[in-house]
Formats: sequence, structure tokens, C-alpha cells
Amino acid sequence: MIPVNEPVIGSRERELVLACLDTGWISSDGPFVAQFEQRFAREVGRKHAIAVMNGSAALDAAVAALELSPGDEVVMPTFTIISCVTAILRAGAVPVPVDCDPVTWNATPDAIMAAVTPRTRAIMAVHIYGLPVDMDPILSFARERSIAVIEDAAEAHGLSYRGRPCGSLGDISTFSFYPNKHVTTGEGGMIVTDSDVLAGRCRSLRNLGFNPERRFVHDALGWNLRMTNLQAALGLGQLERLGESIAKKRAMGRRYRELLQDDNRLQLPAERSTGAENVYWVFGMVLNDSLPFDAREMMRRLSDRGIGTRTFFWGMHEQPVLRRMKMFETVSLPVAERLARRGFYIPSGLALTEAQMIEVAAAVKDALN
Ligand SMILES: *Cc1c(COP(=O)(O)O)cnc(C)c1O
Repeated sequence: MIPVNEPVIGSRERELVLACLDTGWISSDGPFVAQFEQRFAREVGRKHAIAVMNGSAALDAAVAALELSPGDEVVMPTFTIISCVTAILRAGAVPVPVDCDPVTWNATPDAIMAAVTPRTRAIMAVHIYGLPVDMDPILSFARERSIAVIEDAAEAHGLSYRGRPCGSLGDISTFSFYPNKHVTTGEGGMIVTDSDVLAGRCRSLRNLGFNPERRFVHDALGWNLRMTNLQAALGLGQLERLGESIAKKRAMGRRYRELLQDDNRLQLPAERSTGAENVYWVFGMVLNDSLPFDAREMMRRLSDRGIGTRTFFWGMHEQPVLRRMKMFETVSLPVAERLARRGFYIPSGLALTEAQMIEVAAAVKDALN
């Protein structure tokens, strides 16, 4: 089976992780955590970086740091991971999902702006599958109305928008280091911001609200979201190779495109969008409506041929758990609904070889018949 995602762990990561074991620095108190934060902040051009235990926790803390009030609305894409909704709900706010663009799969500025009401306190922009949200119209719109922008850059390591790194665009931005991301720490996440206030709140939320001067005296109710020195060691090694990883992903994207572009029964990822060139976090595709089967059937066929795949996101407005909570009952977002049923992605991990890509592409074409 060709796995849908397999990370590459280099000798540098091995060396740094072993240094943790040899020195006994395995908790979050070890020196690599601060080094990783500083290096990461520099990479995305931000003043603060706060390392946490995963990308979902980064979203939880980032949204909590905005100190929203009950009933405040947060506009977000429906086509994303559930972590976006859970962070908003746990902050006591109301998620307002919007549809996405059929070509870039990202929420559009028009859809986001149309969903804003006088109760909107934040917009969550999520960069999907390797292309960024068209941020500038959203940023200027939000600034005029004092609406905060949360940027979920979990899938956008090494991606830039109009020459600015993703992760540098929101008032507060988050990343994930899950093994399928371009930089992995096994499990891990990062919050970045230029705001001293938001950074201070996130550090406190990460560490149980401990008062920095008087331990066991608490100024806030936080969580334990700390990243370990072991994870940071992995991340430091990975970060040194980020440029190389992105170049490899782009080359893989181009190669898959060459291998698959002559089949008009498939919609391939867009090569570019406003101000950006795809980094192909994953290589997604959407089955043409003329095909008499859906993505689940296609994935079953590919599995029979030894190819691992994954479905596209299932829109938040269609989630059974949220519908049971009486949310989004009358919401219909047709582009995301179609993508959920007809979209899937093929193996796109950094460990994938040229021979495997040829095998995957041949299996895809065969499975369409
Ligand atoms: C991966 C991902 C996350 C969550 O990250 P975890 O580290 O798995 O918790 C959040 N948002 C998006 C868009 C993601 O792709």
C-alpha cells in the first residue's frame, strides 16, 4: 500500500532528539522549545511564537485569547477541519460557516464579507490544501470594522501570499506540526502574532494560567497545552529543511499534474491563485459530475489497487454532531457539499518517490474506467 502521507525524518532531527534524551531535557522546560519558537517567529516574520501541543490547541488558545463574548459571531469556512468550529464554540461564540470557491477550494472574500453582521467579532481564514485565502480584501474590510482576523495556516508552511508568508497575515495565526504537515513534530502546533497582549494571553492559557512571578497563584483559567523539548527538537531539525521540503512538494505537484492533466474526468488543484503559487500540501482532485460514482467509491477502487487516499473535508454545516446541537439546520453551501462528496487526495507525503507517483497516476486513470 502506498501511504497517503509519510513524513521524512532526517539525521538532524535524530541528533537533536537524542540530545534531549542524553541531557534529560524532555519536558517543556528544555531549551529547544524557546529556540524553536524564535526560529519559527523569524521564519514567518512575526514578533511572538508560542509553541503548543497540536494545531487544534493552537486554535483553541488563539480564539480564547480574543476574549469573545457569548453571542459574538465568527465567520469561518465550512470546508475545513472541525478544530476551527470547536475553538469558536469553546470560546462561547457562534460560528458562521461560508462556502468556498470551486477552483481554489478556499473561502472567498465575497462570501466572508457577505456573512458579516453587526455581531461579527472575528473572521477565521483557513488556507486550504496549499493555496492561500485571498487575504487583502478581508484584512482591509476587517480593519475598517475592528473585526479580528484569525489565520489558520496549519496547511500553509512555506506558502506566501503576495510575497508575505502565510502566518504573518492574521492578527493571530496558527500552525500544526502533525506528520502530514510540511514541518512535523509528531504532534505539535504554534501560535504566532505581533500583539504583546495576545501573545501574553496565549502563554498564560498554555500554562494553566500560572502567574509568572508566583507559581501556584493563578490569574486565569488555562489549559496545559505545552510542547515538549522532544517535539521542539524534531521541529528545529524539520525547519532547517523547510525550503527543500517546499521545493520537493512543488515538484511533486507539477509531476502529478503532468501525469494526470490529460484526463478531463478529473479536476486537479489550481497551480496558482491571487498572489500565490500552490505548495500542494496535498494533491487533491475532484471527480467530474459526468462520472457515475462518488469519491468513496473511487477511494475503494484505489485501495484495491494499493493506493492510500483520503476524502476531502466534510463541511462543518453538514456535521451530525453540530446538527444535533440545532446548528446550521437550514444552511446549504453547495460548493462544499459537492467537494465533500466528489473530492479526495492521493499520496502526497515527502517520502513519495517518482516510481510511486507513476504508479499512483496509472492507478487513478485505471480506477476511473
Ligand atoms: C491539521 C489541521 C489543523 C489541526 O492540527 P492538529 O495538529 O492535527 O490538531 C487545523 N486546521 C487545519 C486547516 C488543519 O489542516
